[in-house]
Amino acid sequence: MTKLDCNVTSCIHNSDNCCCKSAIIVEGNQAKDSYDTFCGSFDENKDGSFRNVFKTPESRLEVDCEASNCVYNEDRHCSASHIGIAGDGAREAGHTECSTFKTR
Ligand code: SF4
Repeated sequence: MTKLDCNVTSCIHNSDNCCCKSAIIVEGNQAKDSYDTFCGSFDENKDGSFRNVFKTPESRLEVDCEASNCVYNEDRHCSASHIGIAGDGAREAGHTECSTFKTR
């Protein structure tokens, strides 16, 4: 399980810079740099009206990942102990990225 910090506060799953999902998927099967990756689990919190009152932030979660050029990618699964998803103010998934991506 991977510890996740996420600053995409415009996502409905975000709470206190953590993610409330138990698993996410990171996309970017052709990625050569972090900006080629994005969080495929992003859902826009339109006008910021949704508040996640039922779920609590997960400190560790499963990260499936299509970025096979990353050193942490093991059989489409992230093996890093800690990753950061960036994209404050994102309006769509493509505005986010895995900032921990490291080319093999
Ligand atoms: S660190 Fe690498 S393997 Fe892990 S989610 Fe980010 S891009 Fe995918």
